[in-house]
Amino acid sequence: MMMKKTLAAIFVSSSFIAGVAGSCFAQAPTQHVAKAQLPNVCILATGGTIAGSAASNTQMTGYKAGAIGIQTLLNAVPEIHKVANVQGEQISNIGSESMTHEIWLKLAKRVNELLAKPDVDAVVITHGTDTLEETAYFLNLVTKSDKPVILIGAMHPATAISADGSVNILNAVNLAASKDAKGRGVMIAMNDVINGARDVQKTNTLRVDTFQSPELGYLGYFENGRPVFYKATTRKHTKDTEFDVSELKDLPRVDIIYSHVNDDGKMAEAAVANGAKGVVHAGTGNGSIHENAEAALYDAAKKGIVVVRAARVPNGPTIESTEAWDKAGFVHAGTLNPQKARILLQLGLTKTNDPAKIAEMFGKY
Ligand code: ASP
Repeated sequence: MMMKKTLAAIFVSSSFIAGVAGSCFAQAPTQHVAKAQLPNVCILATGGTIAGSAASNTQMTGYKAGAIGIQTLLNAVPEIHKVANVQGEQISNIGSESMTHEIWLKLAKRVNELLAKPDVDAVVITHGTDTLEETAYFLNLVTKSDKPVILIGAMHPATAISADGSVNILNAVNLAASKDAKGRGVMIAMNDVINGARDVQKTNTLRVDTFQSPELGYLGYFENGRPVFYKATTRKHTKDTEFDVSELKDLPRVDIIYSHVNDDGKMAEAAVANGAKGVVHAGTGNGSIHENAEAALYDAAKKGIVVVRAARVPNGPTIESTEAWDKAGFVHAGTLNPQKARILLQLGLTKTNDPAKIAEMFGKY
């Protein structure tokens, strides 16, 4: 019986083309003849473990993330060409722990440019898992199209015996090609489940089932590779948001301050001194603030810095408070975790620094 080529084998045999990147649907495909009846899907690669290479096939950590180019990743999954005309493009090749605003804006602008073309039907983005939930939520708020945008990553490097990247690529292309995927906001397709960008979190440092939407749940599953939806988000996204990054060169500075025993507000003071336009306070419990840190945050608010109360507790909403915090104009984050509250606050600050208007956004998105 012929052995099916694994991603690791392809990596070894075709590393000479690693890093070669085309430009999606700018030219006719070189290896696969486009079929008119199939949707056109562009894969934008940014790096991460899905493009990671280790010294041995048993190594699951300590590898180099972002080592393999998009073409090599796609060569490992020839099955994708049965469901879509797929072309790849390299945006960056980094470990996502080092994601930047610059790459975000480049990615978002490219996604919008591609989806505005009548002959592009969907975009899949390969990404490291560390900040995947942040990039997904950012794109969920700034993509101006209802065509599918799907993010994937992998927990095991491409060279591992149990590499999970290939099946995630196949599932993502199946989802991108599905008529059901339109209008659902940005999605994450990993480990046979479909998560929505707003509610998904990386919940485990090592395991392949790391992406979960605790409490609010998955949008659906892959049943034998076929995407099946069971629910939809009620929060506004993509073309129904007020955010537009087309002219932006950077995003406003927003710092996250993680509260703890003996918090004295010095981190809040440092954020203000460093020019933060907003602060997300990752508070204890239901977004509580240490009494010794309150003065620094009130001071920040008086200077026009928007303070959002989020929680360092992984589940449950941060709701309004009867304390003086609300009276000082602090906004509560709802079910957004601190890193996602930071993104909504950054985008909100591109429109206004009125805490009441920012609070409305936290009720909507
Ligand atoms: N550090 C890697 C990254 O985020 C981890 C991963 O992709 O799983 O790029």
